[in-house]
Amino acid sequence: LFAPALAAAMVSDRRQLHIFFFPFMAAGHTLPVVDMAKLFARRGVRATILTTPADALSVAASLNRASEAGHPVETLLVEIPPAEAGVPEKLADTKSAGAQMDFLMSTARLRDPFERLLREHRPDAVVSDMFFPWSGEVAEELGVPRLIFHGTSFFSLSLSDALFHHPPPESSAGEEGGLYAVPGLPHRIEVDRSQIPDFRQQKPEFAEVFVKMKQAEKICFGVVVNSFYELEPEYADHYRNAMGMKAWHVGPVSLCNDDDGDRSARGAGAGAGVVDPDNCLSWLASKEPSSVVYVCFGSVCRFTAAQLREIALGLEASGHPFIWVVRDPAGKGDPSSEQWLPEGFEERTAGTGMVIRGWAPQILLLNHEAVGGFVTHCGWNSCLEGVTAGLPMVAWPMFADQFYNERLLVQVLGVGVSMGGEKRYTLREDERPLVGAEEVARAVKVLMGGGGEEMRRRARELREAARAAMREGGSSYGDMGRLIEELLGRQTTPVHAGD
Ligand code: UDP
Repeated sequence: LFAPALAAAMVSDRRQLHIFFFPFMAAGHTLPVVDMAKLFARRGVRATILTTPADALSVAASLNRASEAGHPVETLLVEIPPAEAGVPEKLADTKSAGAQMDFLMSTARLRDPFERLLREHRPDAVVSDMFFPWSGEVAEELGVPRLIFHGTSFFSLSLSDALFHHPPPESSAGEEGGLYAVPGLPHRIEVDRSQIPDFRQQKPEFAEVFVKMKQAEKICFGVVVNSFYELEPEYADHYRNAMGMKAWHVGPVSLCNDDDGDRSARGAGAGAGVVDPDNCLSWLASKEPSSVVYVCFGSVCRFTAAQLREIALGLEASGHPFIWVVRDPAGKGDPSSEQWLPEGFEERTAGTGMVIRGWAPQILLLNHEAVGGFVTHCGWNSCLEGVTAGLPMVAWPMFADQFYNERLLVQVLGVGVSMGGEKRYTLREDERPLVGAEEVARAVKVLMGGGGEEMRRRARELREAARAAMREGGSSYGDMGRLIEELLGRQTTPVHAGD
């Protein structure tokens, strides 16, 4: 897919560019940032991932593959100062939505170790996570350009900024069934007021972090976006022109995993209960093309046992073969616990259904020809991975940017169908209205049956556009090159022979 490294960063009169990549320690952030670092390494950049000891394993397999392929990515360990009692070292070890927020806020303790690494290594730039606004302050103090990685689309960046500056007025509560038409966007986009995050109510301290994140955007060098221009041109333009942000789109970054070995290794150490990729592939090989629905809700969503049972019954009732990835059922921390499955479920669905407990090689499975649709929670990586695999999607958002991504899939791109009528933003699984088995079955039938034809056609077009964007001459390939050039142009250190 990619031309061999052009060594753009190594032209004779300049030093090799060195970039630090510092993702938030969650699969939805770490995996795309590792992919991005691999892409920069292929273009001749010296790329270094900053990771914590607790998280290093989740990136190791992918990085080994990059080394074997001759484009190594370095790692530096950020030593974590002790957290307050009760805060786990890893997001994957958190047992509740509240603990996830505590973990997120506890990452501010990484400021000093990060500063030490930046002083010691003096990279030419740092790409750091939006959840680390303090990293922008440190970088500015040291004169290192900081690029922010938000891990979401231009669409959702534009929508959340519009809502930040123009929140729905209190007086319109209840009007139009709670729908709010967000002002100033390229399309008329309506969001349900119950789906707009209210951080002050959920966790007041996080509201402060959010404001700091917005302030950090004002002092950053720019933003790198895991998206491609042809996917959301109006919003890429809106973000740059109307909002005045300097941004480079460099995705879909998951396309750097260009063979099954890479696709199996991605995130292989990230979760408990990793399934054998070969088992999945041989199971899929026995299925008709485009016949299987892949169901997965990312790395942090939780469900109640009651909701898991409804999903199981709905998948069974749909009559379509399925792969269902169930992570940490019912928050029990034990993917082998069976209480959440309806009695006799696995016997009845033997041959037509596969339940993966824990972690699945998602991009490997999505790109298999037997998979024909994707039921997703609308995490941005999953949305983009679905688009890149050319799949129509059932959109079932729960929190974070997921409701915005749902609007993009369903309303703007026309590759998704919404599931579940009454949905509202909440991190807590026990606060979500139960989506019944009939609704799950209905959505899967639309997706996999005749109703999904137009979505499928559109998805196939986007798949080709995604691949073209990443090829030499494509829009994302070009934007990454322009970013490299701009950073090289900032180098002031005299060049010595042998540098
Ligand atoms: N993922 C995976 N296997 C799993 C669950 C998730 O490979 O069993 C990957 C998925 O491909 C995606 C990332 O983890 O790249 C999850 O990111 P996303 O933005 O979709 O959701 P989040 O986990 O942040 O809610």
